Amino acid sequence: MDKCCLECGEKLIGRVDKKFCSDQCRNTYNNRLNQDSSNMTRNINRILKKNRRILESLNRSGKTRVTRQKLIDEGFNFDYLTNMFTTKAGHTYYFCYDQGYIQNDKDFFTIVKRQDYVN
Ligand SMILES: [Zn+2]
Repeated sequence: MDKCCLECGEKLIGRVDKKFCSDQCRNTYNNRLNQDSSNMTRNINRILKKNRRILESLNRSGKTRVTRQKLIDEGFNFDYLTNMFTTKAGHTYYFCYDQGYIQNDKDFFTIVKRQDYVN
């Protein structure tokens, strides 16, 4: 089977490992890949910052109990976090930057700030 340029689909002639018909196609293709990955990074950063903002806005006192539904209503995305911390007692805190939370039970969470127990 003939191999084709990954960018323009032109039939490739020459080296077996060739992927592009020209430097221009190679550059266009690679630029688009870089663009895609920077878009993805930007989107993830946006989710993390939003998560952090939600936790911060709900946790004015430094330690606040909230329902899962409240977090969901605010637009919190449980799939994204920056780090985790497990205490000696085996409790795991999840963080978006300096704002974190721990799940108390099925429906309740306690929001904390990082400096409350990590130095
Ligand atoms: Zn091409």
